[in-house]
Amino acid sequence: TVSVVLFTSDLRLHDHPPLRAALDGAGEVVPLFVRDRAVDAAGFAAPNRLAFLADCLVDLDAGLRERGGRLVLRSGDLADEVAKVVSECGADAVHMAADHSAHARRREDRLRSVLESSGCRLVVHDGVGTVVAPGTVTPASSDHFAVFTPYHRHWTQQPMRTPLAAPRKVPVPEGVGSEPLPVREHLHGVSPGLAAGGEWQAREQLTAWLRGGLAEYEEGHDDLGGDRTSRLSPHLHFGTLSPVECVQRAVRKGGAGAEAFVRQLAWRDFHRQVLAARPAAARENYRTQHDRWRTPATAAARADIEAWKEGRTGYPVIDAAMRQLRHEGWMHNRGRLLTASFLTKTLYVDWRIGAEHFLSLLVDGDVANNQLNWQWMAGTGTDTRPNRILNPVTQAKRYDPDGVYTRRWVPELAGLDGPSVHEPWKLPGLERAAVGDYPDPIVELADGLERFKRARGRA
Ligand code: FAD
Repeated sequence: TVSVVLFTSDLRLHDHPPLRAALDGAGEVVPLFVRDRAVDAAGFAAPNRLAFLADCLVDLDAGLRERGGRLVLRSGDLADEVAKVVSECGADAVHMAADHSAHARRREDRLRSVLESSGCRLVVHDGVGTVVAPGTVTPASSDHFAVFTPYHRHWTQQPMRTPLAAPRKVPVPEGVGSEPLPVREHLHGVSPGLAAGGEWQAREQLTAWLRGGLAEYEEGHDDLGGDRTSRLSPHLHFGTLSPVECVQRAVRKGGAGAEAFVRQLAWRDFHRQVLAARPAAARENYRTQHDRWRTPATAAARADIEAWKEGRTGYPVIDAAMRQLRHEGWMHNRGRLLTASFLTKTLYVDWRIGAEHFLSLLVDGDVANNQLNWQWMAGTGTDTRPNRILNPVTQAKRYDPDGVYTRRWVPELAGLDGPSVHEPWKLPGLERAAVGDYPDPIVELADGLERFKRARGRA
């Protein structure tokens, strides 16, 4: 017998329950990835993610070849392509990981109905892309947790399965054709500093992180200049790492660093269970209704949005973070918080504009994590203090005290010493001339605060 294993955002061989089930139940398997036309049509195929995906597919194919198999790549409508492969190889089952986004669920429904008509089973495996699957823990009065702390309490009490080893052999039948694998170098618009993808890379990085960075994570995770977070987010997004394995290996190390790191992985599951229960939160306010956002409708707002995107707001730490995003396709979490607060609270621009810009560049760009973190910062989501505003100057002094991060990304300011880099407008004339065409602040923080209070009826 033959089974198809449909890879989606689980591009790995270690700890892969669908692959294990398929191998246990069949003589041969067809490992399949479909470049889903609907993802392109929805504008979700940003160059940085396509480039990282190309690395992941090449590496997955290499891993399969080491085990006597290969990857079959197709592109088009996902359900139609899977059905074609099923009929070509005579499979009686398709195994895939559960995905709870609205798009993924529509896709799964259609796939199920297409396969049913050909007498093939669709087996969907939970707990591949999350530690605790959406819907597993719920409060008494609702279908999901709207606040992280109680969710986290329940999350930590859940039993966890043991991660599965990678299979030794993956026998693939002859005669199932594949498109050529994508080549990263052929893609345009990719950030020059984009990280490399693939399971091999992911595992190297995880091992190095557990050995080197984890112990200092609790005190170091907000250190912008030190860059002391794991940078595993793209691997978790594409599933080149299993979140279950990340948690278990971190827990085995123990200590405050491991605890803080595992807590961040719980945040990831938290957002997924919110989005699974409220798919509209990808586009609409999750909780608070604010409809007085500035939008590109006025020239002044358009200029502010452009300055924010280009990293030319005149607030050095904001500009540093926005330039890191463009250069690497990734941004430090503290930078994400500061730039999102600045756009939505200081400039009072609709969070959707910021979320869309992030998704056009982030290699880890993820509907649940991106949209719900944006909503958290905009005060329309799950933050229990929706009116908090992060001051870009005091935050810069706290999290980039010597200005290392800011000077790294804003070369116009590279000649300024220490924390003076955070307030170039305060420099005396001569020194100020040295910062070249670096702009003055596009808004006074006090004016931004007044606008915020008026818009939220708190003036
Ligand atoms: P680490 O600090 O090493 O954390 C480990 C892992 O925990 C991360 O890889 C990530 O998977 C998870 N994690 C950490 N923080 C969060 C969080 N706040 N919410 C959910 N999961 C978290 N993360 C994404 O993966 N994709 C996104 O599109 C995304 N957009 C964001 C947008 C905004 C406005 C903000 C404020 C945050 C966003 N985040 C997003 C969350 C977070 O910033 C990144 O996950 C983190 O910076 C990735 O770096 P890291 O892997 O070094 O994280």
